[in-house]
Amino acid sequence: MLNCKDTVTETSNYINKDLPISKRIGLFLHFMICRCCRNYLRQFEKTVETVSLVKPSELDKTNKLDLARLLQQVNKETGSNH
Ligand SMILES: [Zn+2]
Repeated sequence: MLNCKDTVTETSNYINKDLPISKRIGLFLHFMICRCCRNYLRQFEKTVETVSLVKPSELDKTNKLDLARLLQQVNKETGSNH
């Protein structure tokens, strides 16, 4: 069974469907049982969605995910400086 750290690390790949099916199932099961990671997944999807809304046609999916990661990093850094 995956732990939370592994799950968070793979969340972007999970959304990007960039994982072998066995790993996707492992993540899916973890999301089923772990509320924290489910919230993280939801937040991540929202971030990707927000980025998509800002520039609907100019970016492909990969760039959107990169931007989402960047935004999350910025959020994290803002939080730690607070
Ligand atoms: Zn978890």
